[in-house]
Amino acid sequence: MPLKQVRTARRMAAGMHGVQAKEAGDVTARVDAARDDLVALTQDLIRIPTLNPPGDCYRDICDYLAARLKRSGFAVELLRAEGTPGDSDRYPRWNVVARREGRRPGPCVHFNSHTDVVETGKGWTVDPFGGEEKDGRIYGRGACDMKGGLAASIVAAEAFIAACPDYPGAIEISGTADEETGGYGGVSWLAEKGYFDPARVQHVIIPEPLNKDRICLGHRGVWWAEIETHGRIAHGSMPFLGDCAVRHMGAVVQEMEASLFPALATRTTAMPVVPDGARHSTMNINSFHGGQAEPEPGYTGFPSACVPDSARMIVDRRYLIEENAEDVRQDVVDLLERVKAARAGFSYDLRELWQVSPTMTDRDAPVVRSVARAIEAVFDRPASYVVSPGTYDQKHIDRIGRLKDCIAYGPGILDLAHQPDEYVGIDDMMESAKVMALALCDLLKPAE
Ligand SMILES: [Zn+2]
Repeated sequence: MPLKQVRTARRMAAGMHGVQAKEAGDVTARVDAARDDLVALTQDLIRIPTLNPPGDCYRDICDYLAARLKRSGFAVELLRAEGTPGDSDRYPRWNVVARREGRRPGPCVHFNSHTDVVETGKGWTVDPFGGEEKDGRIYGRGACDMKGGLAASIVAAEAFIAACPDYPGAIEISGTADEETGGYGGVSWLAEKGYFDPARVQHVIIPEPLNKDRICLGHRGVWWAEIETHGRIAHGSMPFLGDCAVRHMGAVVQEMEASLFPALATRTTAMPVVPDGARHSTMNINSFHGGQAEPEPGYTGFPSACVPDSARMIVDRRYLIEENAEDVRQDVVDLLERVKAARAGFSYDLRELWQVSPTMTDRDAPVVRSVARAIEAVFDRPASYVVSPGTYDQKHIDRIGRLKDCIAYGPGILDLAHQPDEYVGIDDMMESAKVMALALCDLLKPAE
Protein backbone atom coordinates (compact mmCIF):
# COMPACT_ATOMS: atom_id res chain seq x y z
CA MET A 1 0.00 0.00 0.00
CA PRO A 2 1.49 3.42 -0.88
CA LEU A 3 2.32 5.64 2.08
CA LYS A 4 -0.55 8.07 1.54
CA GLN A 5 -3.07 5.22 1.57
CA VAL A 6 -1.54 3.75 4.71
CA ARG A 7 -2.00 7.13 6.39
CA THR A 8 -5.58 7.43 5.15
CA ALA A 9 -6.29 3.93 6.34
CA ARG A 10 -4.83 4.64 9.79
CA ARG A 11 -6.83 7.84 10.13
CA MET A 12 -9.96 5.99 9.09
CA ALA A 13 -9.30 3.22 11.56
CA ALA A 14 -8.65 5.76 14.32
CA GLY A 15 -11.66 7.93 13.61
CA MET A 16 -14.32 5.61 12.27
CA HIS A 17 -15.89 3.18 14.63
CA GLY A 18 -16.01 -0.33 13.22
CA VAL A 19 -13.97 0.42 10.12
CA GLN A 20 -10.80 -1.57 9.90
CA ALA A 21 -7.63 -0.05 8.49
CA LYS A 22 -7.54 -2.85 5.94
CA GLU A 23 -11.03 -2.08 4.59
CA ALA A 24 -10.33 1.65 4.44
CA GLY A 25 -7.05 1.09 2.62
CA ASP A 26 -8.61 -1.41 0.26
CA VAL A 27 -11.51 0.81 -0.68
CA THR A 28 -9.33 3.87 -1.38
CA ALA A 29 -6.87 1.76 -3.39
CA ARG A 30 -9.74 0.52 -5.53
CA VAL A 31 -10.85 4.09 -6.19
CA ASP A 32 -7.26 4.94 -7.18
CA ALA A 33 -7.24 2.01 -9.60
CA ALA A 34 -10.49 3.24 -11.20
CA ARG A 35 -9.16 6.66 -12.27
CA ASP A 36 -9.32 6.03 -16.03
CA ASP A 37 -12.73 4.44 -15.65
CA LEU A 38 -14.00 7.48 -13.73
CA VAL A 39 -12.74 9.80 -16.46
CA ALA A 40 -14.33 7.72 -19.22
CA LEU A 41 -17.61 7.42 -17.33
CA THR A 42 -17.82 11.19 -16.78
CA GLN A 43 -17.06 11.82 -20.46
CA ASP A 44 -19.73 9.35 -21.57
CA LEU A 45 -22.33 11.03 -19.35
CA ILE A 46 -21.44 14.52 -20.65
CA ARG A 47 -21.73 13.28 -24.24
CA ILE A 48 -25.42 12.46 -23.71
CA PRO A 49 -26.96 15.94 -24.14
CA THR A 50 -29.69 15.83 -21.49
CA LEU A 51 -30.77 19.43 -21.99
CA ASN A 52 -33.64 20.63 -19.84
CA PRO A 53 -35.72 22.29 -21.06
CA PRO A 54 -36.95 20.52 -23.08
CA GLY A 55 -35.89 17.34 -21.25
CA ASP A 56 -33.93 15.60 -23.99
CA CYS A 57 -32.21 12.18 -23.96
CA TYR A 58 -33.45 11.11 -20.51
CA ARG A 59 -34.07 7.59 -21.78
CA ASP A 60 -30.58 7.43 -23.31
CA ILE A 61 -28.82 8.36 -20.10
CA CYS A 62 -31.04 6.02 -18.04
CA ASP A 63 -30.27 3.13 -20.43
CA TYR A 64 -26.55 3.91 -20.16
CA LEU A 65 -26.66 4.01 -16.36
CA ALA A 66 -28.82 0.88 -16.20
CA ALA A 67 -26.32 -1.11 -18.30
CA ARG A 68 -23.40 0.07 -16.19
CA LEU A 69 -25.07 -0.63 -12.84
CA LYS A 70 -26.44 -4.03 -13.93
CA ARG A 71 -22.85 -5.07 -14.62
CA SER A 72 -22.05 -4.15 -11.01
CA GLY A 73 -24.84 -6.32 -9.66
CA PHE A 74 -27.59 -3.74 -9.20
CA ALA A 75 -31.25 -4.50 -9.85
CA VAL A 76 -32.42 -1.67 -12.08
CA GLU A 77 -35.79 0.00 -12.58
CA LEU A 78 -36.56 2.47 -15.36
CA LEU A 79 -39.46 4.69 -14.39
CA ARG A 80 -41.25 7.28 -16.51
CA ALA A 81 -42.92 10.09 -14.55
CA GLU A 82 -45.96 10.14 -16.79
CA GLY A 83 -48.14 13.21 -16.69
CA THR A 84 -45.66 15.39 -14.80
CA PRO A 85 -44.91 18.90 -16.17
CA GLY A 86 -43.08 18.61 -19.49
CA ASP A 87 -43.63 14.86 -19.86
CA SER A 88 -44.71 13.93 -23.39
CA ASP A 89 -44.03 11.14 -25.88
CA ARG A 90 -41.46 13.43 -27.50
CA TYR A 91 -39.82 14.31 -24.15
CA PRO A 92 -40.63 11.54 -21.68
CA ARG A 93 -39.41 12.03 -18.10
CA TRP A 94 -37.36 8.88 -17.48
CA ASN A 95 -35.67 8.09 -14.18
CA VAL A 96 -33.45 5.19 -13.17
CA VAL A 97 -33.32 3.66 -9.71
CA ALA A 98 -30.75 0.92 -9.09
CA ARG A 99 -30.51 -1.10 -5.89
CA ARG A 100 -27.95 -3.63 -4.74
CA GLU A 101 -28.87 -5.69 -1.72
CA GLY A 102 -26.25 -6.66 0.82
CA ARG A 103 -25.81 -10.13 2.27
CA ARG A 104 -27.96 -9.42 5.35
CA PRO A 105 -30.43 -6.83 6.59
CA GLY A 106 -29.24 -3.31 7.34
CA PRO A 107 -29.70 0.31 6.35
CA CYS A 108 -29.92 1.57 2.78
CA VAL A 109 -27.62 4.34 1.54
CA HIS A 110 -28.97 6.17 -1.51
CA PHE A 111 -26.96 8.37 -3.91
CA ASN A 112 -29.24 10.65 -5.91
CA SER A 113 -28.04 12.65 -8.91
CA HIS A 114 -30.04 14.64 -11.40
CA THR A 115 -29.22 13.79 -15.00
CA ASP A 116 -30.48 17.02 -16.60
CA VAL A 117 -28.31 19.97 -17.57
CA VAL A 118 -29.18 23.58 -18.38
CA GLU A 119 -28.79 25.23 -21.76
CA THR A 120 -25.23 25.83 -22.92
CA GLY A 121 -25.45 29.59 -23.57
CA LYS A 122 -22.72 31.56 -25.30
CA GLY A 123 -18.99 31.87 -24.62
CA TRP A 124 -17.76 28.27 -24.85
CA THR A 125 -14.22 27.59 -26.11
CA VAL A 126 -14.76 23.80 -26.12
CA ASP A 127 -17.60 21.58 -27.36
CA PRO A 128 -20.14 21.65 -24.49
CA PHE A 129 -21.03 18.01 -25.16
CA GLY A 130 -17.53 16.83 -26.12
CA GLY A 131 -16.32 15.77 -22.65
CA GLU A 132 -12.83 17.01 -23.47
CA GLU A 133 -10.05 16.18 -20.99
CA LYS A 134 -7.47 18.94 -20.58
CA ASP A 135 -5.04 19.85 -17.78
CA GLY A 136 -6.57 17.44 -15.29
CA ARG A 137 -10.10 18.62 -15.93
CA ILE A 138 -13.08 17.34 -17.88
CA TYR A 139 -15.06 20.01 -19.69
CA GLY A 140 -18.68 20.12 -20.71
CA ARG A 141 -22.18 21.18 -19.78
CA GLY A 142 -23.03 19.26 -16.63
CA ALA A 143 -19.39 18.34 -15.88
CA CYS A 144 -19.65 19.83 -12.41
CA ASP A 145 -23.47 20.11 -12.12
CA MET A 146 -23.59 17.16 -11.71
CA LYS A 147 -22.39 14.37 -13.97
CA GLY A 148 -18.96 14.41 -12.28
CA GLY A 149 -20.67 13.79 -8.95
CA LEU A 150 -22.84 11.04 -10.41
CA ALA A 151 -19.78 9.30 -11.88
CA ALA A 152 -17.87 9.65 -8.59
CA SER A 153 -20.75 8.08 -6.64
CA ILE A 154 -20.88 5.10 -9.04
CA VAL A 155 -17.13 4.50 -8.81
CA ALA A 156 -17.32 4.89 -5.01
CA ALA A 157 -20.13 2.33 -4.71
CA GLU A 158 -18.35 -0.14 -6.99
CA ALA A 159 -15.09 0.22 -5.04
CA PHE A 160 -16.91 -0.34 -1.77
CA ILE A 161 -18.76 -3.40 -3.08
CA ALA A 162 -15.50 -4.94 -4.33
CA ALA A 163 -13.68 -4.24 -1.06
CA CYS A 164 -16.54 -5.21 1.29
CA PRO A 165 -18.71 -7.77 -0.53
CA ASP A 166 -20.31 -8.90 2.74
CA TYR A 167 -21.83 -5.53 3.56
CA PRO A 168 -25.24 -5.41 5.25
CA GLY A 169 -28.20 -3.37 4.02
CA ALA A 170 -28.39 -1.98 0.52
CA ILE A 171 -26.94 0.64 -1.80
CA GLU A 172 -29.12 2.61 -4.18
CA ILE A 173 -28.09 4.91 -7.01
CA SER A 174 -30.64 7.01 -8.85
CA GLY A 175 -30.41 9.23 -11.91
CA THR A 176 -33.38 11.56 -11.96
CA ALA A 177 -35.00 14.07 -14.30
CA ASP A 178 -35.87 17.73 -14.13
CA GLU A 179 -33.96 19.00 -11.07
CA GLU A 180 -33.18 22.17 -13.00
CA THR A 181 -36.89 22.83 -13.50
CA GLY A 182 -38.13 21.93 -10.02
CA GLY A 183 -37.73 18.15 -9.87
CA TYR A 184 -41.42 17.37 -10.49
CA GLY A 185 -40.69 14.65 -13.06
CA GLY A 186 -37.80 13.32 -10.97
CA VAL A 187 -37.24 13.19 -7.22
CA SER A 188 -40.62 14.72 -6.36
CA TRP A 189 -42.42 12.03 -8.37
CA LEU A 190 -40.25 9.21 -6.98
CA ALA A 191 -40.85 10.48 -3.45
CA GLU A 192 -44.63 10.43 -4.09
CA LYS A 193 -44.24 6.79 -5.20
CA GLY A 194 -42.48 5.89 -1.95
CA TYR A 195 -38.91 5.64 -3.23
CA PHE A 196 -37.70 7.94 -0.44
CA ASP A 197 -39.79 6.39 2.30
CA PRO A 198 -37.66 6.10 5.48
CA ALA A 199 -38.73 2.45 5.65
CA ARG A 200 -36.92 1.85 2.35
CA VAL A 201 -34.03 4.32 2.45
CA GLN A 202 -32.24 5.57 5.58
CA HIS A 203 -29.39 7.80 4.35
CA VAL A 204 -29.23 10.00 1.24
CA ILE A 205 -26.23 11.70 -0.34
CA ILE A 206 -26.86 14.07 -3.26
CA PRO A 207 -23.52 14.59 -5.09
CA GLU A 208 -24.21 18.20 -6.12
CA PRO A 209 -21.05 20.33 -6.66
CA LEU A 210 -20.58 21.78 -3.18
CA ASN A 211 -16.78 21.26 -3.09
CA LYS A 212 -15.03 18.07 -2.05
CA ASP A 213 -14.46 19.01 1.61
CA ARG A 214 -17.82 20.59 2.46
CA ILE A 215 -21.08 19.06 3.61
CA CYS A 216 -24.22 20.87 2.55
CA LEU A 217 -26.85 20.38 5.25
CA GLY A 218 -29.80 21.91 3.44
CA HIS A 219 -31.18 25.10 1.96
CA ARG A 220 -33.14 28.27 2.72
CA GLY A 221 -36.88 28.44 2.12
CA VAL A 222 -38.59 29.87 -0.95
CA TRP A 223 -41.78 31.89 -1.24
CA TRP A 224 -42.87 33.19 -4.65
CA ALA A 225 -45.87 35.41 -5.11
CA GLU A 226 -47.46 37.63 -7.71
CA ILE A 227 -48.71 41.04 -6.67
CA GLU A 228 -51.19 42.76 -8.97
CA THR A 229 -52.32 46.36 -8.65
CA HIS A 230 -55.46 47.54 -10.37
CA GLY A 231 -56.28 50.76 -12.20
CA ARG A 232 -58.77 52.05 -14.77
CA ILE A 233 -58.09 52.33 -18.50
CA ALA A 234 -58.39 55.73 -20.21
CA HIS A 235 -56.80 57.64 -23.08
CA GLY A 236 -53.12 58.34 -22.46
CA SER A 237 -53.58 61.99 -23.33
CA MET A 238 -56.04 62.36 -20.45
CA PRO A 239 -54.56 60.17 -17.70
CA PHE A 240 -56.59 62.07 -15.09
CA LEU A 241 -59.66 60.28 -16.48
CA GLY A 242 -58.18 56.90 -15.62
CA ASP A 243 -56.16 55.42 -12.78
CA CYS A 244 -52.64 54.20 -13.48
CA ALA A 245 -51.92 50.70 -12.11
CA VAL A 246 -48.17 51.17 -12.71
CA ARG A 247 -48.07 54.24 -10.45
CA HIS A 248 -49.82 52.20 -7.77
CA MET A 249 -47.19 49.50 -8.21
CA GLY A 250 -44.51 52.19 -7.98
CA ALA A 251 -45.87 53.02 -4.54
CA VAL A 252 -45.50 49.34 -3.61
CA VAL A 253 -41.83 49.37 -4.67
CA GLN A 254 -41.26 52.60 -2.75
CA GLU A 255 -42.69 51.04 0.40
CA MET A 256 -40.50 47.95 -0.13
CA GLU A 257 -37.42 50.19 -0.36
CA ALA A 258 -38.44 52.15 2.71
CA SER A 259 -39.41 49.30 5.01
CA LEU A 260 -39.21 45.71 3.74
CA PHE A 261 -35.72 45.53 2.21
CA PRO A 262 -34.07 47.21 5.24
CA ALA A 263 -35.97 44.88 7.58
CA LEU A 264 -34.91 41.77 5.65
CA ALA A 265 -31.26 42.85 5.74
CA THR A 266 -31.34 42.88 9.55
CA ARG A 267 -32.62 39.31 9.83
CA THR A 268 -29.73 36.88 10.12
CA THR A 269 -29.63 33.14 10.49
CA ALA A 270 -27.71 30.55 12.40
CA MET A 271 -27.72 28.48 9.18
CA PRO A 272 -24.17 28.40 7.69
CA VAL A 273 -25.40 29.69 4.32
CA VAL A 274 -22.80 30.45 1.65
CA PRO A 275 -22.06 33.01 0.32
CA ASP A 276 -22.28 35.30 3.38
CA GLY A 277 -24.74 37.68 1.70
CA ALA A 278 -27.30 34.88 1.74
CA ARG A 279 -27.07 34.58 5.54
CA HIS A 280 -29.89 37.14 5.66
CA SER A 281 -33.44 37.10 4.43
CA THR A 282 -33.52 38.22 0.82
CA MET A 283 -36.09 39.16 -1.77
CA ASN A 284 -35.70 39.56 -5.50
CA ILE A 285 -38.19 41.31 -7.75
CA ASN A 286 -38.25 38.70 -10.49
CA SER A 287 -40.39 40.57 -12.96
CA PHE A 288 -42.45 43.71 -13.23
CA HIS A 289 -44.99 44.36 -15.91
CA GLY A 290 -47.71 46.93 -16.49
CA GLY A 291 -49.89 48.07 -19.34
CA GLN A 292 -49.98 46.65 -22.84
CA ALA A 293 -47.89 43.58 -23.64
CA GLU A 294 -44.40 44.58 -24.70
CA PRO A 295 -43.64 44.22 -28.40
CA GLU A 296 -41.44 41.39 -29.64
CA PRO A 297 -37.77 42.33 -30.04
CA GLY A 298 -37.39 44.05 -33.38
CA TYR A 299 -40.96 45.30 -33.45
CA THR A 300 -40.94 48.98 -34.28
CA GLY A 301 -44.57 49.90 -33.93
CA PHE A 302 -45.97 52.07 -31.16
CA PRO A 303 -48.24 50.85 -28.41
CA SER A 304 -51.55 52.65 -28.30
CA ALA A 305 -51.97 55.46 -25.80
CA CYS A 306 -53.66 53.92 -22.79
CA VAL A 307 -53.53 54.26 -19.03
CA PRO A 308 -52.61 50.78 -17.72
CA ASP A 309 -55.37 49.13 -15.74
CA SER A 310 -53.17 46.36 -14.37
CA ALA A 311 -49.59 45.93 -13.19
CA ARG A 312 -48.02 42.72 -12.00
CA MET A 313 -44.87 41.93 -10.08
CA ILE A 314 -43.42 38.56 -9.15
CA VAL A 315 -41.34 38.46 -5.98
CA ASP A 316 -38.92 35.70 -5.01
CA ARG A 317 -38.47 35.71 -1.27
CA ARG A 318 -35.79 33.42 0.24
CA TYR A 319 -36.31 32.84 3.93
CA LEU A 320 -34.48 31.49 6.92
CA ILE A 321 -35.08 28.54 9.19
CA GLU A 322 -35.87 31.07 11.94
CA GLU A 323 -38.83 32.39 9.87
CA ASN A 324 -41.98 30.64 8.67
CA ALA A 325 -43.98 30.91 5.47
CA GLU A 326 -46.99 32.46 7.19
CA ASP A 327 -44.90 35.35 8.57
CA VAL A 328 -43.18 35.79 5.21
CA ARG A 329 -46.60 36.19 3.58
CA GLN A 330 -47.85 38.45 6.37
CA ASP A 331 -44.88 40.85 5.84
CA VAL A 332 -46.05 41.41 2.27
CA VAL A 333 -49.74 41.67 3.21
CA ASP A 334 -48.89 44.25 5.90
CA LEU A 335 -46.86 46.22 3.38
CA LEU A 336 -49.69 46.24 0.84
CA GLU A 337 -52.16 47.28 3.54
CA ARG A 338 -49.90 50.19 4.54
CA VAL A 339 -49.85 51.40 0.94
CA LYS A 340 -53.62 50.98 0.72
CA ALA A 341 -54.19 53.05 3.86
CA ALA A 342 -52.03 55.86 2.50
CA ARG A 343 -53.12 55.92 -1.13
CA ALA A 344 -56.50 56.71 -2.66
CA GLY A 345 -57.84 54.20 -5.17
CA PHE A 346 -55.26 51.54 -4.35
CA SER A 347 -56.39 47.94 -4.65
CA TYR A 348 -54.42 44.76 -5.07
CA ASP A 349 -54.44 40.98 -5.36
CA LEU A 350 -51.80 38.71 -3.91
CA ARG A 351 -51.36 35.24 -5.40
CA GLU A 352 -48.99 32.74 -3.87
CA LEU A 353 -47.16 30.76 -6.56
CA TRP A 354 -44.68 28.49 -4.85
CA GLN A 355 -43.41 27.71 -1.39
CA VAL A 356 -40.62 25.45 -0.13
CA SER A 357 -39.75 25.23 3.55
CA PRO A 358 -36.16 25.67 4.64
CA THR A 359 -34.45 22.45 5.61
CA MET A 360 -31.28 21.73 7.54
CA THR A 361 -30.13 18.27 8.55
CA ASP A 362 -28.74 17.99 12.05
CA ARG A 363 -24.94 17.98 12.33
CA ASP A 364 -25.21 14.89 14.49
CA ALA A 365 -27.25 12.98 11.92
CA PRO A 366 -25.63 9.67 10.90
CA VAL A 367 -24.95 10.57 7.25
CA VAL A 368 -23.39 13.91 8.28
CA ARG A 369 -21.12 12.27 10.84
CA SER A 370 -20.02 9.52 8.47
CA VAL A 371 -19.22 11.88 5.61
CA ALA A 372 -17.46 14.28 8.01
CA ARG A 373 -15.24 11.47 9.29
CA ALA A 374 -14.50 10.38 5.72
CA ILE A 375 -13.58 13.97 4.70
CA GLU A 376 -11.24 14.21 7.68
CA ALA A 377 -9.64 10.89 6.74
CA VAL A 378 -9.05 11.87 3.10
CA PHE A 379 -7.98 15.49 3.59
CA ASP A 380 -6.53 15.35 7.11
CA ARG A 381 -8.60 18.38 8.16
CA PRO A 382 -12.11 18.79 9.50
CA ALA A 383 -15.08 19.03 7.13
CA SER A 384 -16.84 22.36 6.81
CA TYR A 385 -20.60 22.70 6.85
CA VAL A 386 -22.65 24.87 4.54
CA VAL A 387 -26.23 25.57 3.60
CA SER A 388 -27.26 26.40 0.05
CA PRO A 389 -28.88 29.78 -0.69
CA GLY A 390 -31.20 28.11 -3.24
CA THR A 391 -33.04 24.82 -3.15
CA TYR A 392 -32.28 21.49 -4.77
CA ASP A 393 -33.90 18.06 -4.69
CA GLN A 394 -33.39 17.64 -0.93
CA LYS A 395 -36.65 19.61 -0.56
CA HIS A 396 -38.71 16.73 -1.99
CA ILE A 397 -36.86 14.07 0.00
CA ASP A 398 -37.54 16.09 3.16
CA ARG A 399 -41.13 17.20 2.54
CA ILE A 400 -42.63 14.31 0.55
CA GLY A 401 -40.33 11.49 1.58
CA ARG A 402 -40.15 12.64 5.23
CA LEU A 403 -36.57 11.43 5.15
CA LYS A 404 -34.33 13.68 7.26
CA ASP A 405 -30.93 11.98 7.03
CA CYS A 406 -29.97 13.70 3.78
CA ILE A 407 -27.11 15.94 2.64
CA ALA A 408 -25.55 17.25 -0.54
CA TYR A 409 -21.91 16.30 -0.94
CA GLY A 410 -19.95 16.11 -4.16
CA PRO A 411 -17.00 17.31 -6.23
CA GLY A 412 -16.89 20.49 -8.29
CA ILE A 413 -17.04 24.21 -7.71
CA LEU A 414 -20.60 25.49 -7.38
CA ASP A 415 -19.76 28.82 -9.07
CA LEU A 416 -18.95 26.97 -12.33
CA ALA A 417 -22.42 25.48 -12.56
CA HIS A 418 -24.46 26.84 -15.47
CA GLN A 419 -21.42 28.82 -16.79
CA PRO A 420 -19.60 28.51 -20.14
CA ASP A 421 -16.55 26.18 -20.10
CA GLU A 422 -17.96 24.33 -17.09
CA TYR A 423 -15.52 21.68 -15.87
CA VAL A 424 -14.82 19.24 -13.08
CA GLY A 425 -11.34 18.47 -11.75
CA ILE A 426 -10.32 14.81 -12.02
CA ASP A 427 -8.44 14.86 -8.70
CA ASP A 428 -11.46 16.43 -7.04
CA MET A 429 -13.67 13.64 -8.36
CA MET A 430 -11.19 11.02 -7.18
CA GLU A 431 -10.99 12.47 -3.67
CA SER A 432 -14.75 12.84 -3.50
CA ALA A 433 -15.21 9.24 -4.63
CA LYS A 434 -12.90 8.17 -1.77
CA VAL A 435 -14.97 10.18 0.71
CA MET A 436 -18.18 8.56 -0.56
CA ALA A 437 -16.66 5.07 -0.48
CA LEU A 438 -15.35 5.56 3.06
CA ALA A 439 -18.73 6.95 4.14
CA LEU A 440 -20.24 3.71 2.82
CA CYS A 441 -17.75 1.74 4.93
CA ASP A 442 -18.92 3.70 7.96
CA LEU A 443 -22.66 3.55 7.29
CA LEU A 444 -22.71 -0.09 6.17
CA LYS A 445 -20.36 -1.68 8.63
CA PRO A 446 -19.37 -5.20 7.73
CA ALA A 447 -19.76 -8.04 10.22
CA GLU A 448 -17.54 -7.66 13.29
ZN1 LIG B 1 -27.38 20.46 -9.84
